[in-house]
Amino acid sequence: MKDLNILTVDLEDWFHICGVEDLLPEESWGRLESRVEKNTRVILSILDRHGVKATFFVLGFVAEGHPELIRDIARRGHEIATHGYAHRRVYEMSPKAFREDLRKARAIIEGIAGARILGYRAPEWSIRDDSIWAPGILEEEGFLYDSSMAPLPIIGNKAYPRVPHRAPGGAGVLWEFPPLVAPAPLTPLPLGGGWGLRVFPYRVIRHAVTALNRAGHPALFYVHPREFDRRNPKVSLPLSRRFVLNARVARTGQRLCRLLEDFRFTTVARYLESSIA
Ligand SMILES: [Zn+2]
Repeated sequence: MKDLNILTVDLEDWFHICGVEDLLPEESWGRLESRVEKNTRVILSILDRHGVKATFFVLGFVAEGHPELIRDIARRGHEIATHGYAHRRVYEMSPKAFREDLRKARAIIEGIAGARILGYRAPEWSIRDDSIWAPGILEEEGFLYDSSMAPLPIIGNKAYPRVPHRAPGGAGVLWEFPPLVAPAPLTPLPLGGGWGLRVFPYRVIRHAVTALNRAGHPALFYVHPREFDRRNPKVSLPLSRRFVLNARVARTGQRLCRLLEDFRFTTVARYLESSIA
């Protein structure tokens, strides 16, 4: 369908941050203040106000603690997918550990939502060249799509396609949905979410979406509940990580509303159904 874009939410709590397992180990999560429910309600009310459905990549750990929230998201017509169970980077897991994490998350989330999960998103876009075995496992486990490979240096690979494509590394069945990344002279711009969505001028983002849509492709955006929270508990992180997590957080809601006013959005599953399959 023409000019259709994709909105996704990584449904996790403020303490699900990759690379700080020493500061916030999994064993400590149960003792930390959970803020995911309140922040997700902010996102849900923005989506309701604009009549938009999104894909929620739910962390298994969060689903376990907040089953009613997951059921409510599903009842409102959003798509439930998974973000794994324990929020570990794929390239730091063995293929066996990845499969176990995936199965655990899926069993919990499908049990709660009462519907089959079709899609997966890795924490921190961590399917890349050194974890390229993962799409094959997703295919074997019956997933239809993945959204974990960023066309960006380091976090992914800037040579990866910027539009939906068949994921490499498997049997060529799985679809891969990359985040919005715009070409630029020095380095591609991460506009689809995180600090890029909050920091670049809105006109740069609007231009990138328009250019992709004109070429017949969707722009994919992603947000996290903690990006709607001005009172995130402080974690002592290195400066660069703090910027990535916290820069201009007050802007996320405003940015999301503008995008929802200017462009049409849907879920990954509905996009697949209407525009690809
Ligand atoms: Zn995450």
